[in-house]
Amino acid sequence: MAIQDVEQIFADIVARARRLDAHNSRNWFDQLRLVHLNGGSLLIGCQDHARRQYLEDNCGKIFTLAAQQITGHLVTIGFTVENGEKTDSAVSLRQRQFKLHPDYTFDNFVVGPCNRLAHASCIAVSQSPGNTYNPLFLYGNSGLGKTHLLHAVCHTMAPGGVIAFLSCEEFVNGFIQAIEHGNLAGFQDQFRTVNALVIDDVQFLSDREQSQEEFFHTFNALYNNSRQIILSADSSPADIPALEERLISRFSWGLVARIDPPSHDTRVAILKKKANLRGLEISDEVAEYIARKVRANIRELEGALTTLQANAITKNTEITMELASATFGSEFESSARNINITDIIDVVTRHYDVRLADLQSKKRSQSITMPRQICMYLARNLTRHSLEEIGGHLGGRDHTTVMHACSKIGDAEKSDPKIHATITELTRQVVQTPVT
Ligand code: ADP
Ligand code: MG
Repeated sequence: MAIQDVEQIFADIVARARRLDAHNSRNWFDQLRLVHLNGGSLLIGCQDHARRQYLEDNCGKIFTLAAQQITGHLVTIGFTVENGEKTDSAVSLRQRQFKLHPDYTFDNFVVGPCNRLAHASCIAVSQSPGNTYNPLFLYGNSGLGKTHLLHAVCHTMAPGGVIAFLSCEEFVNGFIQAIEHGNLAGFQDQFRTVNALVIDDVQFLSDREQSQEEFFHTFNALYNNSRQIILSADSSPADIPALEERLISRFSWGLVARIDPPSHDTRVAILKKKANLRGLEISDEVAEYIARKVRANIRELEGALTTLQANAITKNTEITMELASATFGSEFESSARNINITDIIDVVTRHYDVRLADLQSKKRSQSITMPRQICMYLARNLTRHSLEEIGGHLGGRDHTTVMHACSKIGDAEKSDPKIHATITELTRQVVQTPVT
């Protein structure tokens, strides 16, 4: 077979695989290269270990099927790292210890007011581990990008350093096993010799006294040697239940950065980034539409994109506004649904120390008008209530009053950093209100 023919077959196989599994397909599949195709085996080259791992974990079956469909016979698929990426021992050690997701890089992370500090501190730490913020502690609700940032740090940290990256659950389980097998020293050594220790979801230490004790010693050993420690959790150190005081204080020694739910603009930017990563075209209108439907959590936002993509494939159409509204319409479930206007009123009245009766009254003093307008604005942003319904909850005001309030607070949020901070904080409190 001529080389062009083989290249063409390879291109067809990749194209077929993309179509068979659009969900796992990525824009960097364009850079996959044919290493060899002969004797019933196809070896595919990619750029780095994270991508090879991703392909092995997610795409083996699909490439096998695609190759079989295109060539007409069974082909064994292999993936390899092809280019000259440094394969010095430190890099390979890192790669064997844990899997990094190729999507979770700084390039693919959208920065907004909600995560700016967390992002900047991760960049700083990855450029100069052990010398800037130590430890770095990220916290925020589920699905807001903590794990993504931790992966990005590990992707970026200068090669030559050894990193241990694991979930807190893995740490705890490893510790328990080490005790069972009488190999505590071995367990301890693997962490005490690293340049950076990155542990995701440390709230898992809650109530686990022995593991906390062990973690305390690991922490001290690394800290005293200026080794970088990066931790994430779903709440601030002080709010992790049943966590020893000495750990709470250590976790706060460096920088504690909170990640808030994303604003509308950030959600739109994230959707576009995710679509681009998957080689999907979505219009501004569709991105705006989805961003309005899904508000609290980026994992859900991505899920909405996946649903839409799957629907486009099933119906064999482009992703249009019609498809988006047919897909989500009124049935769309998201956590935004669970927020109701009384949650908002509770949070706002507590914050401004006013009574609901005042908000509903005819009073027009600034100290009452402002919280009332903020309630309207948050209700408009975080619930599905109509302008009329929102007005109804706040003393039977008509829809133009609500509209006016929304645009006034919206403008103030953009121009006044104090209002912006207040809205962000109130939004966070509303979103965190447990669903009853
Ligand atoms: P957490 O660990 O906080 O629960 P993850 O890091 O797993 O959240 O994020 C959930 C999903 O949202 C991931 O696919 C991640 O890539 C995506 N994501 C979160 N924040 C951002 C962001 N700022 N830009 C792009 N993608 C993001
Ligand atoms: Mg996570």
